[in-house]
Amino acid sequence: MKIEVLGCYGGESPECRTTSLLINGTIALDAGSLGQALSLDRQAQVRSIVLTHSHVDHVRSLPFFIENVYGKSGGGIDIYASATTTFAVRKHLFNNSSWPDFSRLPNNLLPSIRFKELTEEMPVVIDGVKFTPFMVHHLIPTFGFVLEQGGAAFLWSSDTGPTRRLWEMINQMASLQMACVDTSFDNQLQAIADISFHLTPATLAEELKKLERPIPIFLHHLKPPCIRQIQAEVRAMKNPDLHFLEQGKGYEF
Ligand SMILES: [Zn+2]
Ligand SMILES: [Zn+2]
Repeated sequence: MKIEVLGCYGGESPECRTTSLLINGTIALDAGSLGQALSLDRQAQVRSIVLTHSHVDHVRSLPFFIENVYGKSGGGIDIYASATTTFAVRKHLFNNSSWPDFSRLPNNLLPSIRFKELTEEMPVVIDGVKFTPFMVHHLIPTFGFVLEQGGAAFLWSSDTGPTRRLWEMINQMASLQMACVDTSFDNQLQAIADISFHLTPATLAEELKKLERPIPIFLHHLKPPCIRQIQAEVRAMKNPDLHFLEQGKGYEF
């Protein structure tokens, strides 16, 4: 399983792209920066998009990506998401007002996008990769995912505050090689992190007490104005298992 980090920030600047991973070149996990990070040829290789939730930083490149690959995908793009996320994306994005409803273009029989509903804890296999959605604790219903292929497993949680199932998953899955977890704000912004259901280094430290075994944890979703302070606070934790996910980098299992 090959994972490319197209964007891994909780906001944008010329250096920071919003959340999107590319799995094996054909599956996007969140769609914050597909259009900015991938050439048109590579965008045309993407067949499926899996969404954690509907917040703008996770779906913002969808309209332009769909237009870029329009008519080139040989059967349209499958968008996998919970019923809540699907409802929000249809209502607020592909509503003909914000952007054309590509689920009815060019026609209802052969649409450019097809929504496929995901249910909590019910795995689906996409291009040979098993995705198991689990609930995390964010402002709106949001999935994390365990991805499995060829005996290796990878855990992705995009946005979450303090939560339970994520750490249970890590503790239960011996095949898990790496987990990615939100650290959006520095400790001074704890109140904002709490009301928006994100983590800071301080709440991350509390969450890590739920871990029953060591595992590399890659932090991401840093808000651009907070990056330096978060890095300093995480370094001060002196935990050798904590790393920062790197935009533009690939990870292979
Ligand atoms: Zn986000
Ligand atoms: Zn969010």
